[in-house]
Amino acid sequence: MKHRTHLEEKLIAAINADGPITVERFMETCLGDPEHGYYMGKDPFGRGGDFITAPEVSQMFGEAIGVWFASAWMMMGKPPKVNLIELGPGRGTLMADMLRASKVIEEFAAAIEVHMVEMSPALRKAQGEALKGVPVDVHWHQRFEQVPAGPCVIVANEFFDALAMKQVMRVGDNWFERMVEVDENGDLVFGLADEPMAKADLPIWIRKATDKATEGDIAEFSPQRMAMAERIGTYIKRHRGVGLFIDYGHVSSFAGDTFQAVRKHKFVDTLHLPGQSDLTSHVDFEALEEGFEAGGAQVFGPRTQRGFLIAMGLREREASLRKSAKARERIMVSRQAERLIGEKQMGNLFKVLAVTDGTLDEPHPFGLPDGVQETGAK
Ligand code: SAH
Repeated sequence: MKHRTHLEEKLIAAINADGPITVERFMETCLGDPEHGYYMGKDPFGRGGDFITAPEVSQMFGEAIGVWFASAWMMMGKPPKVNLIELGPGRGTLMADMLRASKVIEEFAAAIEVHMVEMSPALRKAQGEALKGVPVDVHWHQRFEQVPAGPCVIVANEFFDALAMKQVMRVGDNWFERMVEVDENGDLVFGLADEPMAKADLPIWIRKATDKATEGDIAEFSPQRMAMAERIGTYIKRHRGVGLFIDYGHVSSFAGDTFQAVRKHKFVDTLHLPGQSDLTSHVDFEALEEGFEAGGAQVFGPRTQRGFLIAMGLREREASLRKSAKARERIMVSRQAERLIGEKQMGNLFKVLAVTDGTLDEPHPFGLPDGVQETGAK
């Protein structure tokens, strides 16, 4: 008999009882099911895990962001207490690197109170280990809404891509929501909703794209990501501060199927072994911008990760790390830098978006002249 994961059994039973579920519900359950969800039980990052994120590639990533926040804090007028908030902090590596780098400005380091927003008990534990001995107070929250009020600097790396999204397929003149159902062999398969999605429930860009789309095209949108961006935008606007959001995705909305599953550093089928592979999709930065702005915040960028990191002095940091390293480590340092900024690696696919409360000047390095599109940004 075919091997099925616990979560697969659970999903099949639920669909047999109540009917097909949306791709959104499927994604959310695979990642966040309290018992069998992907992030719940284990540590999926790093070489031995399923994928590697930028902070796990090199300390240079977190250091650059720590320095960016130190200068943002000065622009904010140096509030004596600042909430350093991270959403979806993974192993805690980014936070540890940022805190180390923040020491370049002692007053900033002394003002920090850390708030980690993490739903996974296993990852909270890993984060606790990573932050053992840091000289600041660290608090954990299940949800962003639980973070106390106050001036803030907020960071999230590869957080939005892990929030669930919806898919719709063009059939005739309509868009039908994509569903997950059970076929005659008892296996999970993709299907479509019986009725087309109401026009009012589709984002305007998809409605406008209907004429250009061909039969069978897929478009994605994420009410959950937009709602989260709006909540963060509202917080930043109300309590003053800045945010920096890094993710892989595209600058403008367009139709396409980017739903993907990764397991042990390889792409696998999105319906394969539910709960045991990482499910994500590209982040639509245009939609995210709308969400932050709906909360009243101001948005700068996005820039490519490459453009952002180079402007933040990654090359100089690479040179100084090389200087203090042994020969073999020197090659490693350069390889890691290349991985972060290489045009065919993370450099162009990943984007960095800055958000402020609207009272601050344009933060460095987001001051590209009007109408200038960064090379490689798509
Ligand atoms: N930022 C880390 C990890 C990225 S993976 C890094 O760059 O290495 C996504 C992270 O978001 C995980 O820590 C996961 O547990 C967390 N997460 C996903 N959905 C969440 C939600 N709805 N609320 C809180 N945390 C969430």
